[in-house]
Amino acid sequence: MEIMSHPMEIQHGSIFGKSWNLTFTSVLLTFFPSHFRDDNRSQETYDGPAGMEVGGIIESNWDEVVDNFDAMNLKEKLLRGIYAYGFEKPSAIQQRAIIPCIKGRDVIAQAQSGKKEKRFEWEKPFSNISFPLTGTGKTATFSIAILQTIDTEVRGCQALVLAPTRELATQIQKVVVALGDFMNAQSHACIGGTNVREDMRNLEQGVHVVVGTPGRVQDMIQRKFLRTNDIKLFVLDEADEMLSRGFKDQIQEVFKKLPNDVQVILLSATMPPEVLEVSKYFMRDPVRILVKKEELTLEGIRQFYVNVKQEQWKLGTLCDLYDTLSITQAVIFCNTRRKVDQLTEEMTAKNFTVSAMHGEMDQRERDMIMKQFRSGSSRVLITTDLLARGIDVQQVSLVINYDLPSIRENYIHRWEKISFHVKSTI
Ligand code: ADP
Repeated sequence: MEIMSHPMEIQHGSIFGKSWNLTFTSVLLTFFPSHFRDDNRSQETYDGPAGMEVGGIIESNWDEVVDNFDAMNLKEKLLRGIYAYGFEKPSAIQQRAIIPCIKGRDVIAQAQSGKKEKRFEWEKPFSNISFPLTGTGKTATFSIAILQTIDTEVRGCQALVLAPTRELATQIQKVVVALGDFMNAQSHACIGGTNVREDMRNLEQGVHVVVGTPGRVQDMIQRKFLRTNDIKLFVLDEADEMLSRGFKDQIQEVFKKLPNDVQVILLSATMPPEVLEVSKYFMRDPVRILVKKEELTLEGIRQFYVNVKQEQWKLGTLCDLYDTLSITQAVIFCNTRRKVDQLTEEMTAKNFTVSAMHGEMDQRERDMIMKQFRSGSSRVLITTDLLARGIDVQQVSLVINYDLPSIRENYIHRWEKISFHVKSTI
């Protein structure tokens, strides 16, 4: 690991040939050499989608493992949605968790990293944090369970998902929309920072699934725009994160308004006492699925950051780096789709060749962009986290966080998803 906070020279290039005045971290470059390999991940016994192996041990009090979607007795339209979304086989978590969820059991899925100590030295806000396991298919697990459980003939909310951030809630809602495409399932993201009246309108129309952040959801319940009497399934995603952000009271208030026999699915990276308490209070004889992951470390990955004084200087810095980026292939992550568009426009206006990809493009367009990128005709790809999994390009050896990830886990997530593919193609 290598972290530099001063203007620098690197032996094999002139990435940092320039001197910058440094005050705070804004641009973060993560390098990993193409020979990086994580031998802990055995593919031998794994029979799910590539890149979604848990690479560790799964402990559970539920023994049944169903390794294909066809055998799960799902509604036909849901099954079509799953395949149309591009899933062929369930991931390890999905093989174990979907069945108890659709059988109406309360389920706790805990996916943790193997070691709890910090993975790398970093300044705040990155010090002393543990990273939850992401990218194992948890979101799709409970989304499938929700879609299987709801009756689309009945108007009204039947499943409620709480997530700690607006971004995550929006992502989850998009997955529900995509998987429920053929079922005509209506869902709504009920998140802070958006127009309250629009929320009310949407909820009044009678959506089947609501995904939201605790504050706004509680507000909507209190104002009686979100009626809870038909809710059958309550999902708490990233429960530890929600509780550590101080949402305990809101979660409890929401829970009190739900029917007594509501089914609860709780997902958490860690099980601190507050989460245990919540699970005891909310859940009945839950099925537990615990994934212990051998930790992916950042060993062998060279990390650098460039400090720039002001946000608007990032662009110039990136342009200075362009020649170096395009020697191999580089992926640049921005936090929002707007930023992807903006950066793409700005770089194109300066005559740099870049490709851009974001979640609002349809699959065909994304496939086309990936094809160009894979073929090497475009060498710099600007994108959002959401699509990291699609980037299975062998030549990518440089990941740039143009924005610091707003969700801290995504720092690991961004290179981790790409590195899966780098590893599997060696
Ligand atoms: P998590 O919630 O654990 O981070 P997600 O459910 O968001 O995981 O899945 C991570 C990524 O993997 C998403 O891009 C999702 O579309 C994809 N994915 C999930 N399940 C499957 C599957 N069975 N086959 C292929 N891709 C999948």
